[in-house]
Amino acid sequence: MSNVFVIDSYYKPLNPVHPARARLLLTQGQAAMHRRYPFTIILKRVVEQPEVQPLRLKLDPGSNTTGIALVNDANGNVVFAAELSHRGHAIKDSLDSRRAVRRGRRQRKTRYRKPRFQNRKRKKGWLPPSLESRLANILTWVARLCRYAPIAALSQELVKFDLQLLEHPDITGVEYQQGTLQGYEVREYLLDKWERTCAYCGKKNVPLQVEHIHPRANGGTNRISNLTLACEPCNITKGTQEIEAFLKKKPDVLKRILAQVKKPLKDASAVNSTRWALLERLKTFGLPVECGSGGLTKYNRTTRGLPKTHWLDAACVGKSTPDVIVHKGVVPLLIAAAGHGNRQMCSTDKYGFPKQHKQRKKTFLGYQTGDIVKVMTPKGTFEGRIAIRHRPSFRMGKVDIHPKYMRCVQRSDGYAYQQKGVCHAI
Ligand SMILES: [Zn+2]
Repeated sequence: MSNVFVIDSYYKPLNPVHPARARLLLTQGQAAMHRRYPFTIILKRVVEQPEVQPLRLKLDPGSNTTGIALVNDANGNVVFAAELSHRGHAIKDSLDSRRAVRRGRRQRKTRYRKPRFQNRKRKKGWLPPSLESRLANILTWVARLCRYAPIAALSQELVKFDLQLLEHPDITGVEYQQGTLQGYEVREYLLDKWERTCAYCGKKNVPLQVEHIHPRANGGTNRISNLTLACEPCNITKGTQEIEAFLKKKPDVLKRILAQVKKPLKDASAVNSTRWALLERLKTFGLPVECGSGGLTKYNRTTRGLPKTHWLDAACVGKSTPDVIVHKGVVPLLIAAAGHGNRQMCSTDKYGFPKQHKQRKKTFLGYQTGDIVKVMTPKGTFEGRIAIRHRPSFRMGKVDIHPKYMRCVQRSDGYAYQQKGVCHAI
């Protein structure tokens, strides 16, 4: 099971406990609920010198979803898992719309002005706002989890493949076979270099095989420069032919492949600037940060027989991964970045005419859009995220509810939560 976080009355994180134990503490009145998402209880006493088991927070940053897992390295238990969805494109859209509104406003009733000298400059380490928001989301959650759990180390997937492992002199005749760690690194590297397409026919989204340009049968080596990717039909048709003979009728394809082969190993560091920026900022937490590669993650996941999900990928990041990952009953908390609303006071229709004016206040009767409330109506009890109106009729999903039936469970914090889904473990 996903465990419940526990803090003592001095807000010191203690060992997470099984939900049954948390329920007992709550019903006996020894603890109270501190936070709904992630579920955290606060003890009504101080624990002097608690014996905590250190946990490792593992991250698999992705462009849409970041996997988060809290793993106990000593016994391999996954204590908590989450999947954090970012709002990369929503950020760009809202900045675009802000720009359009501003431009319209500033150009209204003004005389012509000469363009000003561009005296603006971007700071070093500047990232586009959509990427910055992804980083901010991850860092928010690292800080939050550090508050509720005894976290002693961090792990992050930094690169797709380990360049050092590929260039290592001992493995110049690279072992490309599936099943070895180098095999996974090689595959990840090839997938990246050949853009996940068959080199011969250009097909995408098909299972690809590692293919020798100069065939093994004719003395070709396993060197990474002799490898490419091909779909099964192409691989079989080529057989043991030389590439020049095989592509006799397609000289441009031959030219492209030979040019691609000669390209040097691309520097993996340039692949993803956000991940490197994330590493720099994770270091400021003062915890040891371990880095892993995508090839290693895949290798760890496959050797431990785990299905592919974002949170299990996160649990498999890095060399510290325990031999057995115990994840029975763990259901990830789905966290979606929802933003804090916008400042636009007048919304327009698609022609730019004013449609609706916003109220100056963001709250009504103490509620705000994004609050998670418990609703107790005569018809039943349920919980969810609300959107307020400036009259006593709030929206939850597609239902209108009067605030007199509501009790706030958690204040709006810019995220929407979902704790559901099938249990992947059984
Ligand atoms: Zn093909």
